Amino acid sequence: MQIIHLSHHIGGTDVSGTAVLQQQNPAKADDLQITIPVADAHVVEQAVTAAKTAFAVFRDQGIEKRADALAKVQQLIVQHSDELSQLIARETGKTFADAKGEVGRAARIFGFFAGEALRIVGERLESTRNGAMVEVEYAPVGVIGQITPWNFPIAIPAWKIAPALAFGNTVVWKPSEISSATAARLMALIHEAGVLPGAVNMVLGGGETGAAICANAGIDALSFTGSQATGKKVRLAAMERAIPVQTEMGGVNALLVLADADVDAAVENALNGAFFAAGERCTATSRIVVEQAIADEFVSKLVARVKQLKLGDPLDAATQIGPLASPNQKALISRQTAKMEQYPGAQLVCGGTAVEMPACFFAPTLFDHAKADDPIALEEIFGPVAAVFRVKDYAEGLAMVNNSRFGLSAGLCTNSLKYAEHFKRYAKSGMIMINLPTAGIDYHVPFGGVGASSYGAREQGRAAKAFYTVAKTTYLKA
Ligand code: NAD
Repeated sequence: MQIIHLSHHIGGTDVSGTAVLQQQNPAKADDLQITIPVADAHVVEQAVTAAKTAFAVFRDQGIEKRADALAKVQQLIVQHSDELSQLIARETGKTFADAKGEVGRAARIFGFFAGEALRIVGERLESTRNGAMVEVEYAPVGVIGQITPWNFPIAIPAWKIAPALAFGNTVVWKPSEISSATAARLMALIHEAGVLPGAVNMVLGGGETGAAICANAGIDALSFTGSQATGKKVRLAAMERAIPVQTEMGGVNALLVLADADVDAAVENALNGAFFAAGERCTATSRIVVEQAIADEFVSKLVARVKQLKLGDPLDAATQIGPLASPNQKALISRQTAKMEQYPGAQLVCGGTAVEMPACFFAPTLFDHAKADDPIALEEIFGPVAAVFRVKDYAEGLAMVNNSRFGLSAGLCTNSLKYAEHFKRYAKSGMIMINLPTAGIDYHVPFGGVGASSYGAREQGRAAKAFYTVAKTTYLKA
């Protein structure tokens, strides 16, 4: 059994704490135990003070220095890729292969924003007043509070920390209590890369620590990714202090499969979106909406593929699906699935709560004949659970896709350009996937949803500038 004791990281120094949370390897409890100190409001205040002090220096250090430091973080993540991926697998249950992919993506995000630091474009226009000019520059916001979930334990922190630094801000970051060891390794690499001490501060803990960041008067903006319920609390705290806020939350994403689609390819898209990464992706497919004419064929092929999925130790190269991230997640997914099992109408076709699974494993579960008001249509199930909704045609299918207060990612499988164009325009979703799984996104383009899925400026790609800068308009007359 390996035991890892974690510390906060404030002003370039590790700071130990007393109260502890714990996380174990969700695949085998006797492998790894992580003890996590809990930052209270006082520790958060120390981190905010360090970030404020660093901001005064960091914003004027020059864009080349920032770009170099971000590029160095990229390089270090690549160098430590195997070690980081193993830790992610052991801490969160993500398969080693998925973790490797995520670590590579985190590295590239730092690389992308190293470039962005050199391209902070402003504007110079003629004033409407003769002889005067107007300049618009994009200045850093200040100290950014960042709160992250566990399901992408290095990529999501990367897509918040890298743009914050690229545009000259400093950071107080609270990672999830389920992925704090991975966070601590990323923090150490950021420090090793020579980022100014205090420019990134990491405070560990659970919801109370997150709430203390939200309430701290020194925080200039809040960026959050996690559940809808917590996102609402973060937004309310930001509104109270009238600071900018972005909250990226869940989805009940739908994949619409039309009768003209390549059925085998559509089955693979549904399989990937619903079950890979144990369904623990905010863009995962929960609702598979299938045109009645091909529904029997589609469901039988999908069930056959689900039954071939190999569950196992995340470190084993043959494993396709690991465990859920924690006993709490397993209990939650079990409760939600049991509710679906009891719901009249929907039929369980594979998996379900009766399948006994060791540790935090949960059987990939599929329902058929679900209806628009079934629990799975209304609330996110953040695990390997999906349902098929049978519809008579495209119009009914699109209405079913749009029957959600969420709207993160929506997919369509079709060979029809007409329906693809219509879906792009009328699906109520921030991201549209045509003949692709609902999950799986690029890092150089905007990410985000509509409705209850997202609030505030988009993350990632060039869109990140909108949140991490403030426009300053200067009027000049010589
Ligand atoms: P969560 O809301 O439970 O926790 C997220 C973070 O918020 C954690 O760091 C947690 O400690 C912190 N937190 C908890 N209570 C808080 C409070 N009162 N104030 C401030 N912070 C608080 O979510 P989770 O279980 O870690 O993550 C899973 C959720 O994240 C899913 O709903 C998933 O869809 C969503 N998610 C969304 C995206 C996206 O970009 N849209 C990406 C990944 C995950």
